[in-house]
Amino acid sequence: MIDGTEQPMNLQRMVLVPVMLIFFGLLNFTNAQENPNFDEVNIRILPVRDNIYMLVGLGGNITVQVGESGVLVVDTQFAPLSEKIKATINDLAQSTSRYIIINTHVHSDHTNGNEALAQWAQELTGTTTRIIAHENVLVRMTATPDESVPETQISPTAWPNAPYLTGFKGLHFNGEPIEILHQPEAHTDGDSMVFFRSSDVVSTGDIFTPGNYPVIDIARGGSVQGIIDALNRLLRITIVEDKQEGGTKVIPGHGRLCEEADVVEYRNMITIIRDRVQNLINRGMSLQEVKDARPTLDYDTEYGSDTGFWTTGMFVEAVYRSLSE
Ligand SMILES: [Zn+2]
Repeated sequence: MIDGTEQPMNLQRMVLVPVMLIFFGLLNFTNAQENPNFDEVNIRILPVRDNIYMLVGLGGNITVQVGESGVLVVDTQFAPLSEKIKATINDLAQSTSRYIIINTHVHSDHTNGNEALAQWAQELTGTTTRIIAHENVLVRMTATPDESVPETQISPTAWPNAPYLTGFKGLHFNGEPIEILHQPEAHTDGDSMVFFRSSDVVSTGDIFTPGNYPVIDIARGGSVQGIIDALNRLLRITIVEDKQEGGTKVIPGHGRLCEEADVVEYRNMITIIRDRVQNLINRGMSLQEVKDARPTLDYDTEYGSDTGFWTTGMFVEAVYRSLSE
């Protein structure tokens, strides 16, 4: 946990909501809501540990690892922020000889800046920028274009050009072994966690979003059980330093920098809600009856929302569908 993240998070909540709606294709919004003012967004740098930084702007958190080999970037936020993100990375970089981009999943608030960052890096290095992601991210990005879903219309230069097919990809960069770990059927079907072994830092993508119920993108292969499984795998990586504090640093998909205890609390919350909904399903309740029973009630003040792109009702529905279909 760190202090001072309230301002960007509030901004995220205000502006992220309509933007995310566009790519989820969940609702139609007016132009004003579809066009957040990116000019007002500043990219904040949070030193995480050693040569690893968390960048907070609008959209998913970015993780940057720098060193003698070059720059490794996990997720790229939105294209209109790319100039600011490039300037921030420039300030942090120790070497510009190589750039690697990793995408934790397909959603455009994590991948929309791929093209601009990859092209910029190519100009600096004279070589094609590697974009690594699970194969299912590439599959989703290259699916038949759907006008309501921007991530199916993006340029091939933004596609992952180094997809991995198995459950794991390892690489060595800036003197550090890095594990890219696929998490099946979780937030989507193409989620990866990125574990920086020597620095003891994990970048989780959207399987972990403290302060909000997890988005379960069932249309793109997500499931509540997959999210719980992913969080349990994350908890096998994290090790506390002393009395539930310190130790592994966890950079979530959205929200503040966390530690193991935060992940435990989040995992427990989802597990309890899953069990409650399963119990109501076992008693033969319909979706509406399950919603009316309010299985999330005691967690709603911390994680819930009545408005925005991912309401408490949508979360309960996703859990219900995920368990009953
Ligand atoms: Zn996402």
